[in-house]
Amino acid sequence: MHDRVHDVAVIGGGPAGMAAAWHLRDLDLVLLEERRRLGGRLYSEPRGEYWLNLGGHLFPSGRSHVQEIISALGLRTVAISGSKTSLEFGGTVYSPRRVESYPFVLPMTVRERVALARAGLRLAAGVRGRRPPPDGSFAELLGPLPARVDAILRAAGRRACAELEQQSASVGLSLFGTLWGDGADGVSLSVNLDGGSGRWAEAMSGLLGERARLGARVVSAAERDGHQLVVYRRDGREERLRARQVILAVPAPAAAAIASELPEPVARCLAGIGYGAFVCAGVITKETGAMPWDDIYALVSASSCYDMWFNHANPLRTGGHRADGGSLMCYAGGAPAAAFLEIEESEIASLMLADMLRIFPRLDGNIDEVKVQKWERGNVYRRPGEDRSALHDYANAPGRAVHLAGDYFGDLGNMEVAAGAGAAAAGKVRHELSRAS
Ligand SMILES: Cc1cc2nc3c(=O)[nH]c(=O)nc-3n(C[C@H](O)[C@H](O)[C@H](O)COP(=O)(O)OP(=O)(O)OC[C@H]3O[C@@H](n4cnc5c(N)ncnc54)[C@H](O)[C@@H]3O)c2cc1C
Repeated sequence: MHDRVHDVAVIGGGPAGMAAAWHLRDLDLVLLEERRRLGGRLYSEPRGEYWLNLGGHLFPSGRSHVQEIISALGLRTVAISGSKTSLEFGGTVYSPRRVESYPFVLPMTVRERVALARAGLRLAAGVRGRRPPPDGSFAELLGPLPARVDAILRAAGRRACAELEQQSASVGLSLFGTLWGDGADGVSLSVNLDGGSGRWAEAMSGLLGERARLGARVVSAAERDGHQLVVYRRDGREERLRARQVILAVPAPAAAAIASELPEPVARCLAGIGYGAFVCAGVITKETGAMPWDDIYALVSASSCYDMWFNHANPLRTGGHRADGGSLMCYAGGAPAAAFLEIEESEIASLMLADMLRIFPRLDGNIDEVKVQKWERGNVYRRPGEDRSALHDYANAPGRAVHLAGDYFGDLGNMEVAAGAGAAAAGKVRHELSRAS
């Protein structure tokens, strides 16, 4: 350890840490990231004209924390022309122009149609703010559902990585609100990053250079002689640095483990925040002509081992241009993902591909590459009745040297919530540094 005291150490290089580092880039800053890359749960790898996507992909459009940073970094978002509300039901794919028409389009009994329509009305009323979200579960908000209707909404609800009974009603409404573009915070997750979400991390790595220390797993951050002493392990060795201010931009339970001096109610709140798993398969295809899925971007799958299926090549299919090949992805969330965590990657790939082939037989003979990614902490969600006020009280109080940032500042995690929390923590660091000087 050198005598040098850095202005700020940012711990964690996901969207929250990257946003914090962006806003503090003029200071003496170090970013410590456990993985060998930045980006956290935003993860894609380039594959020629396409990219293999294995993490977050829907970016906010319009004015947002994320857009402000990525445009300043010279990155470009691309519009998605395909359907984001397609549904696989009983092995058939439906893509009606309006989601409201599903109760009339799907081959269902009258009882199922009525239940689906009623659940849809409750959702729409909640999303449009006509009724305050109850403090109960999303399952309670939707009401009792026949099995096949339950399967549709359960698959869609697992985008929160939780079952309908585990997530609060506000989480479910947020899931549908951000997709429909009228979520409570007005943010619509509706565009892609050209080249894949990994481009943001690449650009940040270029900007930070050696100030981003990769493969550095932080073990502790605690006050020592008026500064924060940060201990981390890199390449099998223990290293230390000192900083005036620290931003913990790691998942909530990791933050509680690193900062042992947090007030007990805050540490307890962080340690108890709910995360569920996501297990994904990214697929690179090699077809040489138009395919039945070309006009679909996102599909809820009610009868597969995965819940969601995506066509990441769709935003590139513009102006009649269609390069050979493509990029697909699927993921399971909630209970099915938890079960997949226990299974070998090769078996997961076989199971997921079998369902993709069942639904899109034209995939047969056109698969070039499959990569499975397990995210034990895939997404964060608020449980019914969960109280996070200790966390918000801590974050809002002045005089702190340790700040918290992450997607868990929202009821449902997404990159915009994370980047907003990172920007807020950066503002507090600047304020504390100016008070001290
Ligand atoms: C499959 C999938 C699909 C998703 N889809 C979307 C989407 O379409 N749109 C959207 O907005 N969001 C999506 N999300 C969620 C989004 O990725 C997260 O909300 C976002 O990445 C959270 O950012 P974060 O910085 O809070 O946490 P993370 O992205 O998890 O970053 C935290 C970082 O901290 C590092 N870290 C942890 N412990 C330590 C330690 N001890 N020392 C050093 N570093 C450490 C981790 O390695 C990680 O890089 C998706 C997530 C997944 C997994």
